[in-house]
Amino acid sequence: MNIYQERRQRLSSQLGPMDVAIIPTAPTRTRNRDSDHPYRFDSYFYYLTGFVEPDAVLFVNAAGESVLFCQPKDLEREIWDGYRLGPEEAPNALGVERAHSIGEINHYAPQYLANTESVWYPFGTHEGFDQKINTWIATLAQRARAGVKAPQVLKNACSILDEMRLIKDAHEIQIMKDACSISAKAHIRAMQYSAQALREKKSIAEYHLEAEMLHEFRRHGSESVAYTSIVAAGANACVLHYRADKAPVKEGDLVLIDAGCELNGYASDITRTFPSNGRFTGPQRDLYALVLQAQEASVAATRAGVAFTAPHDACLKVLSQGLLDLGLLNTNEHGHVDDIIEHRHYAAYYMHRTSHWLGLDVHDCGSYVQAPSPQSLTTTSWRQLALHAPNSNPTPSTNASPAPRTLEAGMVLTIEPGLYVRPSASAPEAFWNLGIRIEDDAWVREDGVELISREVPVAIDAIEHLMST
Ligand code: ZN
Ligand code: MG
Repeated sequence: MNIYQERRQRLSSQLGPMDVAIIPTAPTRTRNRDSDHPYRFDSYFYYLTGFVEPDAVLFVNAAGESVLFCQPKDLEREIWDGYRLGPEEAPNALGVERAHSIGEINHYAPQYLANTESVWYPFGTHEGFDQKINTWIATLAQRARAGVKAPQVLKNACSILDEMRLIKDAHEIQIMKDACSISAKAHIRAMQYSAQALREKKSIAEYHLEAEMLHEFRRHGSESVAYTSIVAAGANACVLHYRADKAPVKEGDLVLIDAGCELNGYASDITRTFPSNGRFTGPQRDLYALVLQAQEASVAATRAGVAFTAPHDACLKVLSQGLLDLGLLNTNEHGHVDDIIEHRHYAAYYMHRTSHWLGLDVHDCGSYVQAPSPQSLTTTSWRQLALHAPNSNPTPSTNASPAPRTLEAGMVLTIEPGLYVRPSASAPEAFWNLGIRIEDDAWVREDGVELISREVPVAIDAIEHLMST
């Protein structure tokens, strides 16, 4: 059995005895006029099939059998668009029991759904797909007088698949390590290019550094970026969702690069912040050292058995104390570390969270909270429900929010503290316009984490050293 067959078996074993799961891949999407975006398969579908062609749908039943609908062989189309596996080859190549042309799905789907109990599919991920399922069920309902039973229940397949994808298997970890290696090389290349270009008095812009990254991704076989690269020089680093743009990279700037490649469908996600010319100034060094110290504390706090929020909490302690020490917050106004954390005073400089899941998607699927215990499941009375008005910001609910997820061996999350200092009366001017983030990818183990993205260093000395060569 290949890994995809194994995963389909694990999905199947979690269905009810009369159930069917249906997982479509992603559609092709038009970019403009008759040009498409580069095709990217659906992550759930790929996780279960390893199949990368568009126009495909997977059916899995409780007996562990799979049926694939895929593009039919078509020499004419293949001359234009490339090779298609086709339904004849699919059973052999993918280990599915049967395969049909996607054009026949409306004909066959009702037959596979006849006399089943529940249909599982991913909710809210494929626009219009629920309509198709409804049509198939309606077709079956019309045959009720002939004694055919239509499924009675629709269930969210994400609830099973998210849990499966949250724990990475050995195959996935290896790909993610390889993806991180490529991304690390790219970060090193961009750092070295920056320092070298400035030594040679060349004028460079953010997009030059992006180009160095992309070159390195692609030449090692990565098929794409995992997300839009951020290459932010100087004050731009304080814009959290900045992209790589045209701003000049100037002598004395800090440069923040948040970029990672995708390899065989898996994301890497690395951020490094470095001085453009390879030498940190005093204030840059102070602020960077604080973010690094926060990251070290987060890493030390992360292992199987602790809460998902443990790295964030560890990070906030260090950052809050550091913000006091550096004069970015002051005790008279903001109190001590506990007050700063409780009242979120740190949020003036640190406005995002420390971690997210990482996998096939850069913000990977998986719940961040524990499943509620069955006893705690009660209907919220609509009389008491705290509604927020249109256009208002939902206030964090004060009634008991669900407990954060407990980390387990095999999960992969990012650890990415940062500090972003915009010019303001309350911040010492020496720190104005500095934006720093250090992000690594952490594989959770029983006794700690393995950082799989550390082939690009984070220590000040190590960065200065590699940029001097
Ligand atoms: Zn991230
Ligand atoms: Mg990132």
